[in-house]
Amino acid sequence: KAKQSGRNCCQIFEESMATEANNLVQLESELRTAIQSQQFVLRVQPIIDGQSGKLAAAEALIRWNHPERGMVSPLEFIGFLESSGMIREVDQLVFVEVCQYIHALRSTGEMPEEFRFSVNLSASTLHRSDFVQRVESTLAQYNLPGTCIEFEITEGAALQRLDEVIQKLKVLQLQGLTFALDDFGTGYSSLSYLKRLPINKIKIDKSFIKDLIFDPQDEALVASVIAIADTLNLRVVAEGVESEDQAAWLNCYSDIWYQGYLFDRPLHPEAFREKYLQPQQTPRLVTDNVLKY
Ligand code: C2E
Ligand code: MG
Ligand code: MG
Ligand code: MG
Repeated sequence: KAKQSGRNCCQIFEESMATEANNLVQLESELRTAIQSQQFVLRVQPIIDGQSGKLAAAEALIRWNHPERGMVSPLEFIGFLESSGMIREVDQLVFVEVCQYIHALRSTGEMPEEFRFSVNLSASTLHRSDFVQRVESTLAQYNLPGTCIEFEITEGAALQRLDEVIQKLKVLQLQGLTFALDDFGTGYSSLSYLKRLPINKIKIDKSFIKDLIFDPQDEALVASVIAIADTLNLRVVAEGVESEDQAAWLNCYSDIWYQGYLFDRPLHPEAFREKYLQPQQTPRLVTDNVLKY
């Protein structure tokens, strides 16, 4: 009897593995279609300067507009794109889309001075040997200066090939691009790497912000990250700011930028444009929903 049920177990296990494999095959083919038929769309989330309460920057975030499932979160497919190597194509699509968007904003005078859109990069995009050249040629194609763009990279991606990455960042920084270390605190953070990497900004991962007000350990960690960033002359962005209490806590530190649902969700690019940008010479950056402390 035990043997019997053991076999059943095995069988069920094999069947579920087969289903899993089928699902992956299907996901892969659906994602290929998604790339070819342009099912990926962008959302744009504002980043707010804590001191002035004004718009400071914005991050481009991908969504998959699936024909049957509707909007699919990147958390459900970025990992798979990474392991299958397709992420390189998708990161490039996103970058091109952002460049087109900025190009349009510049042509109507809506692109504010000294404003950057951030674009996320996966490790394999950053590591491709033609990364720098692709960035340069895409910017040139849309006639954009490097000062319009910030790339967000993770600690893991940077440390995998540290010397190479340092070189690439430096070359692009000479052309005005900047770099942020995304999801800071969740990776292999080591102070010596942090010192060597020529980044401009640290984004504190939202997992540290979530319980900031209730958890003294998170408070201490966030305070130390801010102190380190200060020492290294890096700007800090707090991700996942959802409450006024969190914003008020963070605002004790003068120079922080916030990103989170308290201010806005990731918006349709047209909605972002209407709500935050104005077609005029002197950009009006004050938003109407920003809290003043
Ligand atoms: P991320 O780069 O850390 O982006 C921030 C994430 O936090 C976004 O999730 C955003 O919607 C979410 N978020 C913003 N404010 C809040 C808040 O107040 N509370 C909470 N709980 N979440 C908030 P999203 O859009 O689901 O993206 C997830 C991740 O997918 C991104 O994390 C990024 O790692 C990756 N990703 C998104 N777009 C791209 C892309 O074009 N290329 C690559 N390689 N990765 C991307
Ligand atoms: Mg990011
Ligand atoms: Mg992040
Ligand atoms: Mg994150």
